[in-house]
Amino acid sequence: MPELPEVETVRRTLNDLITGKQIEHVTVRLPRIIQRPDDIQAFAHMLAGHSVETVERRGKFLRFVFDGLVMVSHLRMEGRYGVYREGEPLDKHTHVIFHFTDGTELRYTDVRQFGTMHLFQPGEDLLLKPLNKLGQEPLDADFTLERFKQIVSKRSTKIKPLLLNQEYIVGIGNIYVDESLHRAGIHPEEAANSLSEDHLARLHHAIVATLTEAVNAGGSSVKSYVNGQGESGNYQDQHRIYGRKDQPCATCGTLIEKSVVGGRGTHYCPSCQPVPVQIR
Ligand SMILES: [Zn+2]
Repeated sequence: MPELPEVETVRRTLNDLITGKQIEHVTVRLPRIIQRPDDIQAFAHMLAGHSVETVERRGKFLRFVFDGLVMVSHLRMEGRYGVYREGEPLDKHTHVIFHFTDGTELRYTDVRQFGTMHLFQPGEDLLLKPLNKLGQEPLDADFTLERFKQIVSKRSTKIKPLLLNQEYIVGIGNIYVDESLHRAGIHPEEAANSLSEDHLARLHHAIVATLTEAVNAGGSSVKSYVNGQGESGNYQDQHRIYGRKDQPCATCGTLIEKSVVGGRGTHYCPSCQPVPVQIR
């Protein structure tokens, strides 16, 4: 599933490609993608005539801001947006097409069909599902060490599932939580409230640094992720731990292990990330 760096990369590409374009009409080929309003004809009718002002991101969601409407979209497993010229061959998994007045189209393609689109009046979107319960943005200036401690240090849950919980901090998924914990030298099953001051500071830094580097590399292309122009990211080449089971840890040479934490496949170095005392 695309995480913050991948969604941010898609956002930047789309923002460059479609800002200022006006929708002439919308074709919905797979109604289940449209979650709000209930009626796909109403969805298409509402969007017609509106222009794209900007494309924003909240957590792992894209926010398409039109003049007078906001569309919130989640790519889930394998959703993709791409801009095409009218008449270019259509992929059979293209489910929604936004036809612009200049003869180009924004197409949404999704082999797994899990992606979603919600349409709102401006302002409404932040108060209602799916955005209303989202937590702290980790790349915003207000994600300070103090803020991080407020979120983490009173909770007794394991640190990995806590970091994956979008109600606390948004955008970190399985790849970047494994990368950040390895970088900070913290075992994924450590209880959040037992982390030392030093570990909290290291983890805060690791999250920001890892996500920033990944955004700068255009995200990680694992599975089918591409940006809005069909280009792959290359942060997967810089992964220190994710997807590297049985390979030597770049820091210490110990073989990387994989286990299951909170139901998720989890990579860690048994030497750099020692098992915490409370679960030994
Ligand atoms: Zn190591």
